Amino acid sequence: MPVELADHAVALLGLLGLLVGSFLNVVIYRLPKMMEHQWEVECALAAGQPAPTQPPFNLVVPRSACPHCGAGIAWYDNIPLVSYSVLRGRCRHCQASIPLRYPMVELCTALLFAFCGWRWGLGAAAMAWCAFLAGMLCLALIDWDSTLLPDAIVLPLLWLGLIGATFQWTGVSLEQALWGAVGGYLSLWSVYWVFKLVTGKEGMGYGDFKLLACLGAWFGWQALVPMVLMSSVIGAVVGIVLKHNEGLREGGVMPFGPFLVGAGLACMFATPLGFRLHLP
Ligand SMILES: [Zn+2]
Repeated sequence: MPVELADHAVALLGLLGLLVGSFLNVVIYRLPKMMEHQWEVECALAAGQPAPTQPPFNLVVPRSACPHCGAGIAWYDNIPLVSYSVLRGRCRHCQASIPLRYPMVELCTALLFAFCGWRWGLGAAAMAWCAFLAGMLCLALIDWDSTLLPDAIVLPLLWLGLIGATFQWTGVSLEQALWGAVGGYLSLWSVYWVFKLVTGKEGMGYGDFKLLACLGAWFGWQALVPMVLMSSVIGAVVGIVLKHNEGLREGGVMPFGPFLVGAGLACMFATPLGFRLHLP
């Protein structure tokens, strides 16, 4: 690709990433709450009770508001990165501090999308990888916050990985992608059941199996073992550090999803740099 076109792709996708990142903040905050409300409704209905009602709450309504003072956030206070710097990280109305995570998600999304522009130019492959990365960022943070891995994000990305393989967007054959998905699911599923039968405890959740199936679809079955090893080792180290600092949540639960996502990103970055995380 000519250098000029590549530059355009980096700049355009970087800008798109800022906008998408702003939306991802909404998804990360609201999707787990939407799921929890849905479960409350289903539980109530199953118990033959009237479903609990609440005002409409989805990714579109209500409009974003400061969680501290409830004041609505105007469009000019919602410009990715810019507004945070102008407001110096504080609400315009009540001066409550805005978590640094919001601009960081916007910045990370912009950088990841720009990387896609550099690596794949402007086209279907770049768009697919942008969707993959946006989804992975959401999954890592939602899992970290709530130990949930929403099917609404994981499953479409799994199908997209298989579709990507047929169109040669992902660099693995459809056969490798298919066995990656099957092997990813079954490997963690087996570990889960062995662990449960031996110890009587649940080490991870079904969301983790689906997430590894998704990563297997994108990177092929050869990447499964390196990804699982990497995420387990890093997860164990972080777990020990958190435990030492009393940073673990109640019950000592630590989500595995963020580490699987990290291993997936390492796979993606390693490939264009000439390394193969694949087994021979
Ligand atoms: Zn406020």
